[in-house]
Amino acid sequence: MPKITRRLPPKEKSTSKSKSTPKSKIDAAKRVKKAGNAAAKSKVSAKPWTPAEVHEAFSRFRKANPEPKGELEHLNPYTLLVAVVLSAQATDAGVNKATRALFEVADTPQKMLALGEDRVRDYIKTIGLYRNKAKNVIALSEKLIAEFGGEVPRTRAELESLPGAGRKTANVVLNMAFGEHTMAVDTHVFRVGNRTGLAPGKTPLEVELGLERVIPSEFMLHAHHWLILHGRYICLARKPRCDVCLINDLCRWPEKTV
Ligand code: SF4
Repeated sequence: MPKITRRLPPKEKSTSKSKSTPKSKIDAAKRVKKAGNAAAKSKVSAKPWTPAEVHEAFSRFRKANPEPKGELEHLNPYTLLVAVVLSAQATDAGVNKATRALFEVADTPQKMLALGEDRVRDYIKTIGLYRNKAKNVIALSEKLIAEFGGEVPRTRAELESLPGAGRKTANVVLNMAFGEHTMAVDTHVFRVGNRTGLAPGKTPLEVELGLERVIPSEFMLHAHHWLILHGRYICLARKPRCDVCLINDLCRWPEKTV
C-alpha cells in the first residue's frame, strides 16, 4: 500500500492582519512585502558591497550635498516629533502645509493641550488619518507633560512609548533633534537599500540594521537624509533616474538603466 504523506500548512507569520487593522496599514505591509520579495530575488545574484565601495558612494553623496536637510518643517524637537507623527502615510509637503499654521499657535505641548483636540483636528484635516493623528498629538503632549517635564525624551524606549510614535519616529527625532547616528527607514530608504544592494532586507528593521552595519560612522549623521533624498528625487519607485544617479556604477540593481 502506498505511503500517504501529508504536507503541513505553512507556518502563520503573524496575526497582525486582524479585522481591526486599518486598510492603509495592510497596503503598506503589502508594499513592503512585495519590495522585500523583489529584493530577496535579486539578493541571490547581488555581490555585496565592499567597504571601499560604500565609502566611495557616501563620499559622493557628501560632496554633492554636504549638509543635507530633512524636508519636514519644524521649530524645535517637540514640533519635529509632532510633524513626524503626522507624516505617517502622508507626504512631507502635505504635512508642512498643515503644520505651518498649527505650529504658529502651538509649538509646545502645553499650547497644544490648550488648543484642544477639536481645533488640532481642524488644522490637520488635509492629512490622511487626521482624526487618529489629532488624538495622538494630544495624548503625546499630555504624556510629555506628565512624564517628561514637557520635554522630548532622548532615548529610543521613551520616544517609542509616546502615542503615535514608533521606531521610525524615534530614529528621526534621535537623529535630527539630538544628532544620534540612527537610520530611519521610510519607503524611500527601504527601496534604495534593497535596489542598490547596500542593505537588502524584507522588513524596514532588516534594512535599518543592515545600513547601520555597512555605513561608516563618519557618514551616519547625514546618511538617513542622503538616502531619503536619493530615493525621493533620483531612485524613483517607478522610473529611477539611473542616467543621472551618482552611484550608478556601484549600484547592484539588475534592472538599472545604465
Ligand atoms: S542606478 Fe538606478 S536603481 Fe541604482 S541607485 Fe541609481 S537610480 Fe537607483
